[in-house]
Amino acid sequence: MTEQQKSVIKTLRQQNFSYNAIANTLGLTVSTVKSYCQRSGLAGNRKEACRSNHLKPSVLPSFCRCCGKQITQKEKVKRRIFCTDECRITWWNSHLEQVKRRNPHTVNCLCCGKEFTYYGPNPQKFCSHPCYIKHRYEGVTYVAETV
Ligand SMILES: [Zn+2]
Ligand SMILES: [Zn+2]
Repeated sequence: MTEQQKSVIKTLRQQNFSYNAIANTLGLTVSTVKSYCQRSGLAGNRKEACRSNHLKPSVLPSFCRCCGKQITQKEKVKRRIFCTDECRITWWNSHLEQVKRRNPHTVNCLCCGKEFTYYGPNPQKFCSHPCYIKHRYEGVTYVAETV
């Protein structure tokens, strides 16, 4: 559990959400949330919270995956997971491994014919920069052998 998740749990407990709802929001198991709350004195005070907080929250808030700030979701808009573009970029930059695992494509190099894998939405035609140069300036193009 990250420090950010801990602070989110604290906030949500203060707003009277159940272990279940918190676990769903953060993608944690209910028992993880529960045991953290019990260890941190966040358990068992829901009744008290109810009394002091008359406005029962109906919509579960979401929290920026990067900085943990609460996000106000707009209706009919895709649920956001980051509060700002900066947070989105910061988060993805620090999780490049996860970006890499998205959308792998295996294609053959247009120059040498070697099979290579690229990631992300931008199609790539060459396995390496030298291959690109060779193709671009020397016209080297791999032709698949036809049987
Ligand atoms: Zn943020
Ligand atoms: Zn190549």
